[in-house]
Amino acid sequence: MIKKTSLLFTMLLVCSISMLAQDKDATIEAIIQEANENSQLETLGHQLMDGIGPRLVGTPQMKNAHDWAVAKYKSWGIPARNEQWGEWKGWERGITHIDMVHPRVQSLRGTQLAWSPSTPKKGVTAELVVLPTVSDSLEFVNWLPNVKGKLVMISMPQPTGRPDYNWEEFATEKSFEKMKKERDAQNDAWRENMQNTGLNRRTLPVALEDAGAVGIVASYWSRGFGVNKIFGAYTKEIPTVDLELEDYGMLYRLVASGQKPELHIVAKSKELGKVPTFNTIAEIKGSEKPDEYVILSAHFDSWDGGTGATDNGTGTLVMMEAMRILKKVYPNPKRTILVGHWGSEEQGLNGSRAFVEDHPEIVAGVQALFNQDNGTGRVVRISGGGFLNSYDYLGKWLHEVPREITDEIETTFPGTPARGGSDYASFQAAGAPAFSLSSLSWSYWNYTWHTNRDTYDKIIFDDVRNNAILTAILAYMASEYPEKTSREKAVLPISNRTGEQLEWPTPRSPERDGGQN
Ligand SMILES: [Zn+2]
Repeated sequence: MIKKTSLLFTMLLVCSISMLAQDKDATIEAIIQEANENSQLETLGHQLMDGIGPRLVGTPQMKNAHDWAVAKYKSWGIPARNEQWGEWKGWERGITHIDMVHPRVQSLRGTQLAWSPSTPKKGVTAELVVLPTVSDSLEFVNWLPNVKGKLVMISMPQPTGRPDYNWEEFATEKSFEKMKKERDAQNDAWRENMQNTGLNRRTLPVALEDAGAVGIVASYWSRGFGVNKIFGAYTKEIPTVDLELEDYGMLYRLVASGQKPELHIVAKSKELGKVPTFNTIAEIKGSEKPDEYVILSAHFDSWDGGTGATDNGTGTLVMMEAMRILKKVYPNPKRTILVGHWGSEEQGLNGSRAFVEDHPEIVAGVQALFNQDNGTGRVVRISGGGFLNSYDYLGKWLHEVPREITDEIETTFPGTPARGGSDYASFQAAGAPAFSLSSLSWSYWNYTWHTNRDTYDKIIFDDVRNNAILTAILAYMASEYPEKTSREKAVLPISNRTGEQLEWPTPRSPERDGGQN
């Protein structure tokens, strides 16, 4: 059974109790006042995103961020520590500079992919080639020697750099439809040709490298103006770079028209061997039930095309600010309030899976966990995560949050457990009542998620402040709640896809030795 209810409806239901409860709770008043009148969000955001920068697992910047967070918590009087849970390939991004040097000179917008090998010191200069159309893998293998000494363009050139919403606004319906149809056909043909090569996006760069290519040039458009997704490289010796759509398309057309464009690429990253990888944990000890935990949760790592401002800088800021406020206005919680800033979420929830595996006693004592990890927007969705009685407590706690913050929140009870997506899934799998505070999009998927445009300027501080207030109040309410929360699981529905009874997810082990090719 899924009960969907708006907060307004909840409000009507519990109206009679609420009239009394609404009589100002001094702690809640103090939380709101501290968040509004002494916000540290902009300072924290600047220090983390602008000063430390992106937080790719295995980089010195990730370690800097962990050390910064520990120092911050200590400055607020909150004990904090970095817990090592594994190792990762160590790597540090350096300068990337990409220029077209033939048939004319133009500096291009692009960057080395994460963990990509560097170029030789003076860079690499070479002609670009594109993939051939082949009917089978043998034909592709026969073509492969052509890449020797060349830079190979491996992405489909997009027919338009204008996002669909822009076409929708200005194109005639006929021309919009025509563009979409042609683009679909181009996508299908590209996919089919890729299948014919017998390779995929992981194995193709390696095959090209083995055949003597001197670099890989890709472009992963994120369907917004000037925005690309920047993930990791698969090559072992030669650099892989991503070029923005505009430059990539131009080069592709120059190759096609026989102009033999050449690039000069300088990419100065460093390999650092194996490095330890961490979670940052801070806690305010419970005064009555120290072995029961309210956990604030947000992954700390990011991809590194931008500075990880909305994935997950903003979730990080929410949890840090909530902890700071709680320590100041609620220094002696009944239960322990613990914050987890997880490492390597992006590679498969690794930090939180490690924490769940390493701390069964804490997982057993979880009263509630609140995770935020889908951008800068104000929270608009909360699900009961499949916990049958979650409405009883979550509903009550939410009711104590000012209406202007909860007005837009749609709740779903009992909901279903997550099978990934973010760190609360690691805890739900272990049966702990963990919940996602899910944000309004602010064009997250196209413009900031894992992109080169995930930067400080995209943060909506008013929304982040609301989320910090919401989180702090929920943590306070969960800490004070008279009973331990129920973990009873709902019977999950029959899968639409398979027609079979859905099973509750089970805990999975983290990757503790990552990035080793
Ligand atoms: Zn994230």
